[in-house]
Amino acid sequence: MLKRRITVLGATGSIGASTAAVVEELLASGAAEIEVEALTGGRNVRALASITRRLRPKFVAVSEESLAGELRTLLEGVSVEIGAGPAALVEAASRPADWVMSAITGAAALEPTRAAIDRGASVALANKECLVCAGALLLEAARASGAKLLPVDSEHNAIFQVLGHPDRVEKMTLTASGGPFRKWSRERMASATPDEACLHPNWSMGRKISVDSATLMNKGLELIEASLLFSISEERVDVVIHPQSIIHSMVSYCDGSVLAQLGAPDMRVPISYALAWPDRAPVSAQRLDLAALGELTFESPDLDRFPALRLAREALRAGGAAPAILNAANETAVESFLAGRIGFLGIAGVVDEVLQSWEGSGLGAIAKSPSSFDEVRSIDAAARIAAREAVGRSR
Ligand code: NDP
Repeated sequence: MLKRRITVLGATGSIGASTAAVVEELLASGAAEIEVEALTGGRNVRALASITRRLRPKFVAVSEESLAGELRTLLEGVSVEIGAGPAALVEAASRPADWVMSAITGAAALEPTRAAIDRGASVALANKECLVCAGALLLEAARASGAKLLPVDSEHNAIFQVLGHPDRVEKMTLTASGGPFRKWSRERMASATPDEACLHPNWSMGRKISVDSATLMNKGLELIEASLLFSISEERVDVVIHPQSIIHSMVSYCDGSVLAQLGAPDMRVPISYALAWPDRAPVSAQRLDLAALGELTFESPDLDRFPALRLAREALRAGGAAPAILNAANETAVESFLAGRIGFLGIAGVVDEVLQSWEGSGLGAIAKSPSSFDEVRSIDAAARIAAREAVGRSR
């Protein structure tokens, strides 16, 4: 019987909802005994109160202190400790759950995720931004504490599932749906709206990752994530567009064999795999009917129409501070796009400008890897300022 004591960071989001669905299904079917230690939310206190009533954690934390009163009112009569503010998010991650889902969007996940890693928990990593900005430091922290990092991003989870002989790998191939603008011209993308960018063809996700999927920056972040998680060099990770999102990624071995993981595009599958690992758990995700699907197709990504993927590959190749700068500039650019301050093509434009102008601005050597989490924080903050300035200039 699967037994877990879990914490979900980012419980009010799309991954949080899928995690709750997996937990509730496993509890209802009697396939698992799961206690919920802590849940966290950002600003959506209603969703946090609702998931708290369903999952009955011991501790619940909201990201802003000003929202604590409202959460307290919404949870009247429920026996749960309530915390608020960044320190409460870290407290949630520090409490004694043996499995922690990291599903806060962006670099905001860094401190709580690090707290879970530092105490040696199994950390299910949906969030990719904290690996991109502080990957080497987090991996080192996991080695030191014995924490197990379990990839939840569907591509990395697929690789994790088929990685039988890590020392015999020739290359890895990340699949990408191509996003909502796969067939759009640059001219048409120039006037794309946030709602159009968030209309992903196969997955229902939060707005930030949806925009990243539309620019293909998501695949670029995943490229960096794969290189870190699986210790593989940049040139041995390919990206292929696979619009049906049925093959979630592939590993090619030295004998010509290619192993792939297939499944319906449903995050409950990788989440349940990470939760039950090294076992598997019975989950009612849609089963594949290959004959009904008819065909699976593939094409090369177009780096002229989607320069963000090229920028991420270059940042991975450059190493040092480049991935952290890329990530922070991208987070700022995506927020600016969602707020209507820049156009869709401006996202990659801002990231490119911040990376190109970094050394000339006296912000430090791009090739120097951050040697501490404090250094990551200051690179992240400086890149956000540079990106806001670039947004201002582009208006
Ligand atoms: P959502 O936007 O749906 O949810 C994000 C979660 O993070 C919410 O709980 C939100 O709280 C919380 N949050 C946002 N900002 C902060 C902050 N500053 N402090 C504390 N909490 C915060 O995103 P997703 O669930 O789609 O994605 C979450 C992560 O998982 C991302 O890193 C994404 O790249 C990754 N991922 C997502 C996939 C998906 O299918 N959705 C697939 C693979 C990876 P609130 O809403 O209450 O403000």
